[in-house]
Amino acid sequence: MYIILLGAPGAGKGTQAAMLAGKIGVAQVASGDLFRQALQQETELGKTAKVYMEKGQLVPDKITIQMVLERLGKPDCNNGAILDGFPRNLEQASALDKELAEQAKAIDKVINIKVSEAEVIKRLSGRWICRDCQTPYHETDNPPKVKGKCDRCDGELYQRADDKPETVKERLKVYEKETLPLIQYYKKTGKLVEVVSEGGPEAVHRKILAALN
Ligand code: AMP
Repeated sequence: MYIILLGAPGAGKGTQAAMLAGKIGVAQVASGDLFRQALQQETELGKTAKVYMEKGQLVPDKITIQMVLERLGKPDCNNGAILDGFPRNLEQASALDKELAEQAKAIDKVINIKVSEAEVIKRLSGRWICRDCQTPYHETDNPPKVKGKCDRCDGELYQRADDKPETVKERLKVYEKETLPLIQYYKKTGKLVEVVSEGGPEAVHRKILAALN
């Protein structure tokens, strides 16, 4: 099963992708996490991506598409994947369709998680993420049991540099210009379902499962 999660930064794609991947038993493939890992490991890919990530802009398609398709080629993605943060524009969407078609596979569903701009700003400014397992927390809405420590793996929590208000504004602009056209693209395929991100992660997860059924 191949499922794409679409939505503005802060819509809850990462949280929902992790919950869904656990429920369905397929891998979660998050392009932003792959870039952050490369950045942490100081690879050439990481150094290139950093320049764009710091500005809230998209990493060039050629690099991004190659990285994600390589990840999808790993054995744990043989039965499908939950794609989180990819595709982010039409170029990436058509590269993904082409690659899956070559393997006689296809996207099954696309879930658009809807959230207001005011809510995005609130969520991202209070967001803390585990350095080791990437689990996201929110300082008031979803705090960890112990401040600064991940509930799941005891890893250190940190705030993303690109969650600062100026960069969030740029990321939202990029989302509107580059990613919003994907809604129409997937609507035409009949695979798009929309879910409003409110009521907390569990409630949104239940809405997603209902939409998938
Ligand atoms: P995210 O964790 O999905 O919010 O992504 C963080 C940053 O990584 C983005 O602001 C981009 O700079 C980069 N990035 C993640 N996914 C993509 C993608 N599909 N295409 C281009 N850049 C991406």
